[in-house]
Amino acid sequence: MDEKNILIRCDGLVKIYQCDDVEVMALQGLDLQIEQGELLAIIGKSGSGKSTLMNMIGGLERPTAGKLYLDGEDLYAKSDKEMTIYRREQVGFVWQMSSKNLIPYLPAVENVEAPMRGMGVGKEAMRERALSLLERVGLSHKKDAYPHQMSGGEQQRVAIAVALANEPKILLADEPTGALDTKTSNQIQDLFRSLNEELGITIIIVTHDMKLAHKVDRVLMISDGKISTEKVLKEDYRKALQQLEDDSMLNLFTHEEYSVLDKAGRLQLNDEMLEAAGIDGNRVKVEIMDGKVVISKE
Ligand code: ADP
Ligand code: MG
Repeated sequence: MDEKNILIRCDGLVKIYQCDDVEVMALQGLDLQIEQGELLAIIGKSGSGKSTLMNMIGGLERPTAGKLYLDGEDLYAKSDKEMTIYRREQVGFVWQMSSKNLIPYLPAVENVEAPMRGMGVGKEAMRERALSLLERVGLSHKKDAYPHQMSGGEQQRVAIAVALANEPKILLADEPTGALDTKTSNQIQDLFRSLNEELGITIIIVTHDMKLAHKVDRVLMISDGKISTEKVLKEDYRKALQQLEDDSMLNLFTHEEYSVLDKAGRLQLNDEMLEAAGIDGNRVKVEIMDGKVVISKE
């Protein structure tokens, strides 16, 4: 990874939620680096900390400990007011529930205009931009439709246009296709890819759908509030993927899987690896063999 191109750097992010007398550690010292212009997927079981991480990157919450740098700037050193400006100007959000994305009593075009209000954009320029964004997501013909007059997929397309209204640097999508059928999910995923390629915008998508995850440059697996493994799209496939029409060709071999080593030299092994190696206890044998580190059952 090229240090110069790093847009987001998380250093030991910890988030503890206090619920009555119980503490939940949603993020447990998470380290992560994301390059400018990456198209990234985050996968992980329910409760693993995916949404918490998205909220941290989006400046919706502050961590209990740890830092997040954006273009080298300490995000949480900002005042609440500066954070609000950051959220409005630099990040776009797309949530799973379209009701969270759209204002029900406004037609599509006015929904896209909403984030631009109060930003010093003239009325005509605002309308023009909203219409061009709707065209970009393939929904010009629905500009006057209200959210309830659109399908789930159409609503998410409008939501993407809304998220892009203020030309953000980062687009965060938390399970944007969670409530959609496979075909529609695929179309939305293709839209993310083309926006990423055409606008150069950094896109982070939380998904539970491995198949969708294979359409991105890099897949990060989060477990227990930490990044455990990552899969990187192999260079050879990068081109092929752009021309790919048949999704059945997507498989595990398009990506190379890496485990993440943290600063203290700790490594997390996922359930698949443990099972394959027959490891079930809490101790393993670690040996160096032919210049490789071999981990096996005790
Ligand atoms: P995911 O998005 O991967 O399903 P979350 O980030 O939503 O996971 O949650 C991670 C953990 O933190 C879960 O155990 C969840 O119950 C807890 N959690 C998340 N948000 C809150 C909150 N606002 N208050 C208390 N606990 C929370
Ligand atoms: Mg979530």
